[in-house]
Amino acid sequence: MATLNLQHIDKIYDNNVQAVFDFNLDVKDGELIVLVGPSGCGKSTTLRMVAGLEDISAGKLLLDGRDITATPPKDRDMAMVFQSYALYGHMTIYENMAFSLTLRKENPNVIHKKVLAAAEILGLTSQLNKKPAQLSGGQRQRVAMGRSIVRNPKVFLFDEPLSNLDAKLRGATRREILLLHKRLKATMLYVTHDQTEALTLADRIVCMSMGHVQQVGTPLELYDSPANVFVASFIGLPPMNFYDVRVSGDKLVGEGFTVSLTPEEQHTLRGYNNKEITLGVRPENIVEGADVPVTVTTNENLGMNTLVHGYVGGNKAVKISAKLKGWRDYKVGDTASFTFNRKHFFDKETTNAIKGGEG
Ligand code: ADP
Repeated sequence: MATLNLQHIDKIYDNNVQAVFDFNLDVKDGELIVLVGPSGCGKSTTLRMVAGLEDISAGKLLLDGRDITATPPKDRDMAMVFQSYALYGHMTIYENMAFSLTLRKENPNVIHKKVLAAAEILGLTSQLNKKPAQLSGGQRQRVAMGRSIVRNPKVFLFDEPLSNLDAKLRGATRREILLLHKRLKATMLYVTHDQTEALTLADRIVCMSMGHVQQVGTPLELYDSPANVFVASFIGLPPMNFYDVRVSGDKLVGEGFTVSLTPEEQHTLRGYNNKEITLGVRPENIVEGADVPVTVTTNENLGMNTLVHGYVGGNKAVKISAKLKGWRDYKVGDTASFTFNRKHFFDKETTNAIKGGEG
């Protein structure tokens, strides 16, 4: 059982750089939370404050309701897995995994049991007598996780654990972490700049930008109802297209295109008639249709889909990326015609999503 509460946490470094502003999060027991955002947005700083590796400048951190804001790292009952998994090269895999317990002078029988159990979970049983150099990168990353598992911590902290692995191994190791989470039912905080990792791993995602939490929610909530333009552009690949448009009754008028609004969309936008808003359209929500004239610049067949890039209404500055179902063979310079089957609306000034709300 491990819950975490981060309450109004700030981090100001000694050089007066404020890396984290008013971070609030209640992590439920057994939840896998992914902190995601671009480099420098304050993810690692937040994780390191939870681990106790950085002081908390203001605010409170609770573990199972107990205030651990000032508790030294070694007394926090948390284990951190880093991107550089620095194993001891002269030790066997077994010794590497047993190391922290040996240091603690645990009973050798207990150590043996714990190492074997962790090796079993991670599929490392047959590797225990090898040295790290004899293992693949993915296996070494698993050993690093094994070192944490044997300690049976209350909370697992992962700092970009997959960023040193190649793309194929990243996918496989990501699925292993997911299985590990299911098996251990442990509370986990996971930091990554990779939105795919966030979407595939998280129970809930915390999306950050410039030290501020932008949105907290399930992967589907962030994908389907992004709170603002930042989250909308960060989550989803290829990224969402954005257009300046004017609301005109039952239509949206953009540069070189006009699309109609459904009754629900009109309702959502009822406060914005004759105003400029930002329209967001995911590439996968674009289909061939009659509304948006596009000049094709590239046509990439991905098998199940075709990624078509181009520009709208003859204006090279108004770019569009569409992920069409099936195989297409547009040539460079072809004119295509698309329509949007799902639209996202954002206030131009606040950049916040325009919600339908009541009334
Ligand atoms: P992320 O993990 O999202 O890439 P970090 O938490 O590492 O971001 O960094 C957040 C901000 O804090 C950045 O502007 C970074 O330059 C700054 N920062 C990180 N560590 C320190 C430090 N030890 N001293 C001063 N500033 C730091």
